[in-house]
Amino acid sequence: MNGPVRYDRAITVGLVRSVRRIFLSRPGNHALTILMYHSVSDGNEDHVPPYYRVRTHPAVFAQHMQWLRENNIRGVTLREGLANHTRAGTPGARQVVLTFDDGFGDFMTAAFPILSQHGFGATVFLATAFVGNQPRLFKQKECLTWCDIRELHKGGIEFGSHTVNHPQLHDLDRSQIRAELLTSKSMIEQELGNEVFSFSYPYAFPSGDPLFVNELSILLGEAAYGCQVTTEVGRNHPGVQPFRLKRLPVNACDDHELFTAKLAGDYDWLGRAQGVLKQCRRPHLHP
Ligand SMILES: [Zn+2]
Repeated sequence: MNGPVRYDRAITVGLVRSVRRIFLSRPGNHALTILMYHSVSDGNEDHVPPYYRVRTHPAVFAQHMQWLRENNIRGVTLREGLANHTRAGTPGARQVVLTFDDGFGDFMTAAFPILSQHGFGATVFLATAFVGNQPRLFKQKECLTWCDIRELHKGGIEFGSHTVNHPQLHDLDRSQIRAELLTSKSMIEQELGNEVFSFSYPYAFPSGDPLFVNELSILLGEAAYGCQVTTEVGRNHPGVQPFRLKRLPVNACDDHELFTAKLAGDYDWLGRAQGVLKQCRRPHLHP
């Protein structure tokens, strides 16, 4: 008898409660939710703690997209998500922004076919030194080529900048940061003939250094970016600064219970806790 009892409990406490949180009109439902993926590929990362894993297996990714679909939530690009979020009077706009950092080649082969099945958009962030006419390697994995990128762009995928060299921007001087922002942006624009709107900060966002964060916002504005996503954890509430958008990290460890809990806002506490820790650890910002 224990089996069915546990099963009932799991459905009640895990699934039903989590799904109800998505549907109920809580204040948090007006938040802009941005998911952060990296690689959609098989392979294990057992040596890496679950929070830091960057792979989402294609079968798991397909499930994530299916769960969104079942809850009438549409996956959209960052540009579209932000426009819907800031536009007044968009009742019932059920959307989640899907972002992919590092521009791995598996976005083309594994993620895009699944997104297409659902008619979902997404934003992919490229570190342009790792993009060529032939696949280049980043972290021992093949990246998208310009040919892939042009094709994906025609398929409704938005491309943003993730710098040129994927450096720790916090360690660079102002002119070097400016070059990373401007060169990557103009290279993508040249290839796609389309304005680049979004920027993704590489590595952990240095929240504990408000002077740097402020200066970076100014440089992003000067480089004509419209927004920046970070590794700060959480959803974004109305009035959020566009150059400091939080995201929810997602990987192969996100089963239904955890994935839906994140969408419902039950993971936002982690961002607040990390913020407090970073304040305490200043100036040692990077793990
Ligand atoms: Zn990255």
